[in-house]
Amino acid sequence: MSQIADVDQQPEMHPQRWGDPARATALPDGARGLVDLVFGAHDTPAVEAPPVPPSQLDPAHLDALAGIVGAEHVLVDDDVRRGRTRGKSTPDLLRARSGDLADAPDVVVRPDGHDQVAAVLAYAVDHHLAVVPYGGGTAVTGGLVAARDGFAGVLSLDLVRMKRLLAVDDVSLTATLEPGLRGPETEALLAEHGLTLGHFPQSFEFASIGGFAATRSSGQSSAGFGRFDAMVVGLRAATPVGDLDWGVAPASAAGPDLRQVLLGSEGAFGVITEITVRVRRLAEIKQYEGWRWASFADGSAAMRTLAQAQLLPTVLRLSDESETAINLADPSAIGGQGDGGCLMVVGHEGTAEQVAARQAAVAAVLAGLGGTALGSEPGEAWAHGRFNAPYLRDSLLDVGVLVETLETATFWSRVPQLYASVKQTLADGLGEGSLVLCHISHVYETGCSLYFTVAAKAAVDPLAQWLVVKDAVGDAIVENGGTITHHHAIGTDHKPWLAAEVGQVGVEVLRGLKRTFDPTGVLNPGVLVP
Ligand SMILES: Cc1cc2nc3c(=O)[nH]c(=O)nc-3n(C[C@H](O)[C@H](O)[C@H](O)COP(=O)(O)OP(=O)(O)OC[C@H]3O[C@@H](n4cnc5c(N)ncnc54)[C@H](O)[C@@H]3O)c2cc1C
Repeated sequence: MSQIADVDQQPEMHPQRWGDPARATALPDGARGLVDLVFGAHDTPAVEAPPVPPSQLDPAHLDALAGIVGAEHVLVDDDVRRGRTRGKSTPDLLRARSGDLADAPDVVVRPDGHDQVAAVLAYAVDHHLAVVPYGGGTAVTGGLVAARDGFAGVLSLDLVRMKRLLAVDDVSLTATLEPGLRGPETEALLAEHGLTLGHFPQSFEFASIGGFAATRSSGQSSAGFGRFDAMVVGLRAATPVGDLDWGVAPASAAGPDLRQVLLGSEGAFGVITEITVRVRRLAEIKQYEGWRWASFADGSAAMRTLAQAQLLPTVLRLSDESETAINLADPSAIGGQGDGGCLMVVGHEGTAEQVAARQAAVAAVLAGLGGTALGSEPGEAWAHGRFNAPYLRDSLLDVGVLVETLETATFWSRVPQLYASVKQTLADGLGEGSLVLCHISHVYETGCSLYFTVAAKAAVDPLAQWLVVKDAVGDAIVENGGTITHHHAIGTDHKPWLAAEVGQVGVEVLRGLKRTFDPTGVLNPGVLVP
């Protein structure tokens, strides 16, 4: 059906920063002054275009791979390999900024379609090449860092050519997508049919459909549309032992739901080549508004009430007192929101009648619980700036401020304890003068996620500084009944806590799945499976 334009015309992310290189900006003067004051900031420029370790791959492999995908899609030049090195967590950025590209793949291979993916995998198995499926490259937990020991080389399997909308079922309201489609490309193709997927993570502009599935992503409209894994009704994947095609009906009692085995599998069990998702009619109206709460506890109790009354809007997020005081969406307004309390953003999407009815019902509940309506301005400002914050992280790293995020989730009854413990652990670890901010942006009838953002004066070795703190926070999450990840996945970074969450039997199940799908272990070695 429809396809996105020429692969080499598509915008590439900056190898050492988030997003579109053209949108990289320095901190505005006003914000710089404040940042200097709070953090004692100092310019910390990145090493420009650091050298990439030479490709270790035997040239004979390049010829053979060219025979599968075409010579122009087997790439070993430094710029391409630099851009496929690791993901976009702060540790990834710090390593790249310091000039460390030791995890660069030896070759980037760009297959077009399921059959070419399967053929590349078969070749990799025969020649013991490690294969790293690469979607948008926005991973934040080390999912793109394959262990290279014992392998003949590391092959980045870039799915950038696989960007077709393969089918639309207008009766069932499903669409079948190729994995390389980025968020905006997907929405543009679906909009031609009057449809939307409704998955808008903060990484929306660069992350891919395959990556969303492989990491169990959750977007900013999850209250109305659900997490990405809840949208998936069918999957096709190529694995070293053959093809999978799962999902003949929306629901089934034919044993355990095997689609779930591929969701969150982070490229360790197979390469997802086609995904069938539930889609919805495009909204006529999108309306966002703000509400103020006296405290984070009051606001989160209101979220729980809405969720348990099955009265969720499309977007529902609540910043704690610290995050409310700092406007993350707009760098020029840093420090500008000092009215106290906690800001909630409530968004409604649908037909005019649906939006009017739900807005009135939700507003009545929120007002009854003590919320103060702030009108549309704070909600619209959030919607307008929702994809800007990652650029701000780079601007802060440039001036010696360490910035990172982490997330977890738990049941409502444990939220206060988990929130307090993680916040305290982060503050203790990062020391005096650090900022620890939190919001809730994914809610369920039974619980919610907690998403933390930290900022602190960077130490001489900011990577070591953060890894110590991350270690302590991982322990605090586990000890206080949270999941080690609600939507960022395990990768390599969260592996130390996986056994505590799923138990030894769970670990053995994962190892068994790995042995079944990938007996020689070429797929993303070192990722996900302990
Ligand atoms: C600034 C920023 C904001 C973010 N915001 C959010 C957010 O709001 N919500 C959220 O959920 N996440 C968020 N993330 C995390 C990240 O965007 C998600 O994990 C995303 O789902 C990854 O998609 P990707 O296409 O970039 O995958 P990649 O980074 O390319 O890959 C991620 C993992 O999936 C594997 N993989 C990729 N494609 C396939 C495939 N087709 N088959 C099998 N395995 C595959 C890779 O090998 C890797 O292990 C954010 C990240 C950043 C940097």
